[in-house]
Amino acid sequence: MKSHVKAVVIGGGVVGCSVLYHLAKAGWTDIMLIERSELTSGSSWHAAGGFHTLNGDPNVAKLQAYTVQLYKEIEEISGQSCSLHLTGGVMMADTPERMDFLRLAHAKGRYLGMDTELITPSEAKAMFPLMDEKNFVGAMWDPVEGHLDPSGTTIAYSKAAKKLGAEIVLRNRVVDLTQQPDGTWNVVTEQGTVHAEHVVNCGGLWAREIGRMVGVELPVLAMEHMYLLTEPMPEVEEFNKSTGREMIGVLDFKGEIYTRQERNGILLGTYEKACKPWSPVNTPWDFGHELLPPDLDRIAPSLEIGFKHFPGIEKAGIKQIINGPFTFALDGNPLVGPVQGLTNFWCACAVMAGFSQGGGVGLALSNWMVHGDPGFDVWGMDVARFGEWAGLRYTNAKVRENYSRRFSIRFPNEELPAARPAQTTPLYDTMLANNAVMGDSWGLETPLWFAPKGKEPRDIVSFHRSNDFGPIGEEVRATRERVGVTEIANFAKYEVSGPGAEEFLNRLMTNRMPKTGRIVLTPMINEFGKLIGDFTIAKAGEDRFMIWGSSAAQKYHMRWFEKHLPKDGSVRIHRFDQTLVGLSIAGPKSRDLLQKLVDVDISTKAFRFMDFREMAVGGAPCMVNRITYTGDLGYEIWMAPAYQRLVYKAIKDAGEEFGLVDFGMRALLSMRLEKNFPTWFRELRPIYGPFEGSMDRFIKLEKNDFIGREAAAKEQAEGPKLRRVSFIVDAADADVMGDEPIWAKVSKDFGTVEKPHGYGAPRFDDKGEEVRGSKAAEGASAVRGIVDGDWRVVGWVTSGGYAHYVQKSMAQGYVPAALAEDESAGLFEIEILGHRRPARINVEAPFDPSGEKMRT
Ligand SMILES: Cc1cc2nc3c(=O)[nH]c(=O)nc-3n(C[C@H](O)[C@H](O)[C@H](O)COP(=O)(O)OP(=O)(O)OC[C@H]3O[C@@H](n4cnc5c(N)ncnc54)[C@H](O)[C@@H]3O)c2cc1C
Repeated sequence: MKSHVKAVVIGGGVVGCSVLYHLAKAGWTDIMLIERSELTSGSSWHAAGGFHTLNGDPNVAKLQAYTVQLYKEIEEISGQSCSLHLTGGVMMADTPERMDFLRLAHAKGRYLGMDTELITPSEAKAMFPLMDEKNFVGAMWDPVEGHLDPSGTTIAYSKAAKKLGAEIVLRNRVVDLTQQPDGTWNVVTEQGTVHAEHVVNCGGLWAREIGRMVGVELPVLAMEHMYLLTEPMPEVEEFNKSTGREMIGVLDFKGEIYTRQERNGILLGTYEKACKPWSPVNTPWDFGHELLPPDLDRIAPSLEIGFKHFPGIEKAGIKQIINGPFTFALDGNPLVGPVQGLTNFWCACAVMAGFSQGGGVGLALSNWMVHGDPGFDVWGMDVARFGEWAGLRYTNAKVRENYSRRFSIRFPNEELPAARPAQTTPLYDTMLANNAVMGDSWGLETPLWFAPKGKEPRDIVSFHRSNDFGPIGEEVRATRERVGVTEIANFAKYEVSGPGAEEFLNRLMTNRMPKTGRIVLTPMINEFGKLIGDFTIAKAGEDRFMIWGSSAAQKYHMRWFEKHLPKDGSVRIHRFDQTLVGLSIAGPKSRDLLQKLVDVDISTKAFRFMDFREMAVGGAPCMVNRITYTGDLGYEIWMAPAYQRLVYKAIKDAGEEFGLVDFGMRALLSMRLEKNFPTWFRELRPIYGPFEGSMDRFIKLEKNDFIGREAAAKEQAEGPKLRRVSFIVDAADADVMGDEPIWAKVSKDFGTVEKPHGYGAPRFDDKGEEVRGSKAAEGASAVRGIVDGDWRVVGWVTSGGYAHYVQKSMAQGYVPAALAEDESAGLFEIEILGHRRPARINVEAPFDPSGEKMRT
């Protein structure tokens, strides 16, 4: 065993071996994987080995597609077979809502290069004759699904990595990790200490324990999971013989079941409602190649539905039941990347679908370690996406909820209840008393909308407009015409101070820093010229800046700030989290209202648009920004939590004469739509350049040398390929939700969308004939791919909804720059729930395009 290496990867499961392979492939060959026992000694060896590309997050779906493509490569390099069976698979919908979900997934797949197809239940049955198709209303076919040998695949990664020069040390547990003053690590193992520049936690079932070695409680929990294997089945053998094909994989949402052929029988697994965590607090180090006792009672309800849906399987004898643990993060996606607050400590854990995701995780992490950037939009699996609130008990509740809902539909307006309320502001009870429907905003309870008096404050979940539509409209109209108040505690807030503060911010941000008492809006970009943040910055004093940004990105941004902090102590950063809370008042009467609560002049001239002041509001010391995300005349008022009730009461009392209303986050988001304002994580993400994001006026290339300046200048000089635009959509009773394809009637291929990658396993009808261009499930678009006559998919929606004041359905998204200013009718269509709706670009914001109202 070497005593010094560039990087140590802890854990020889499929993920550790993939990370090792990708690091070696990227040129880091002085690396070592340390495994406690033999390779695949965690969850990898007893996996069902299924793989698929579909994921709720399109960016994770892309990395899953990469994983599947990779298997041929590692087989070739290693000489080790992965026993790949690319059978294709179907997802079965039993209700119209589930069919809507599949239509959405199918539509997203268009610009992701996925070749999915909506098909009828009988078409699905032709490929998996054991089902009773009468239980279903439709299905989605995905050719890039199948199964493989989990151990063989892990070994293939490891052999390929070794061939490239990596070292693998077996039967050697890492017992401790200590950091040197220079940021490097001493990896203390049973066989001695290895000094490494970087450490990667690929500990799988023990990832939590490895996190604890460095003082971090990772939000990851193992769950028991069962699948059964049947005896050989004559029906399966007969199908194989008559078609020369293997049966496909089937995912049955209603039964919470996945099933596929395994040898001459069937493998059937469940995600049961009565799920069970395994080792909820500490994972035993002596757990090895063992299985857990099966518990058929727990999965009986799923099996009952399963046998009804797949009567062919019920008759078969059960040969074996596998029950094994594997890990999940709160939302079911992996935890990848550098851990904020630590140097050179990386994670690639909580990978619940190692054989769909392991390759993508390895590629993204190796890019990040070697080149300083993952190279993709990996927010959906970034370890920074959860806050401190995601502790052991919170994680336990959320992971159980996620597991039991693995195949349930998550509606766009659905808030999940587990582990709530976690964080509340002092106004929580008041908001409940006001009939607020609350939502979870990065662990904080936040009012979404207010139900009318006498009505239960509850969302009716749907893909269509729902019971919040009327009340949100009221909130918006009252705010736009009079004045409204909302809680904004769920923004991120930071203070950057010290003699080096201004220089530091000028180096990080694309805009000039403001003068004292003034505010600027500014994106932040990385050295590759991609958007990594969007902030409101006020200069509060000589060496003191206040910064507001996206709540969910707090750890992500802190990680970046800390990485670039001068070592000489000239800059301090403080993240307030919920030690600073806020209220926003907006609307034409907001100045009159605020003036009644303050003892200073806040007239247009005395307190201008984009001014910042510290002043007492209703007697409480506050910071006030003359700015609001509604795009109206308005203010953001920030105070310590101890004052929030006082300020809110003062606003409510003084607001009575102006017809003040409470409004929630959904009304705020509706109002920003009619102003064409973007949101972070929707419109603005690390895959777009600042000019693509239409943030031109905030990019001051001439001000000084800032991070990413060169790349931004290049983007500007060459002209952005894409542009963020706003659309008005001729929608019916459903608005866009995000990720819908944008079609345009153009003859040119703009090359902005990926073509299907054409794995295309053939499909067969019940006579064994190959099926081509099949009819889609009833009411769905039958068009596959990205071209349909004169129409082609040219972009994607990032977000949207109903803009209540201008009474229009709106969407924002990215299209080729050449089309971005074309407002012609008939040029665009946006695919909402399988139906293509006419859409028109709207260059100017439909509400107050000149911005006069907010400047008044
Ligand atoms: C019943 C079942 C069915 C499944 N079916 C599928 C499926 O169909 N498709 C799919 O994609 N996924 C499936 N999975 C999930 C899949 O197994 C996991 O996603 C995958 O195994 C995760 O791999 P890993 O490398 O992260 O973790 P692990 O496989 O747990 O590997 C972690 C490794 O780290 C080692 N280690 C830990 N701590 C230390 C230490 N301190 N020092 C040295 N070594 C250490 C362990 O010994 C272990 O070998 C299934 C899982 C189960 C249980």
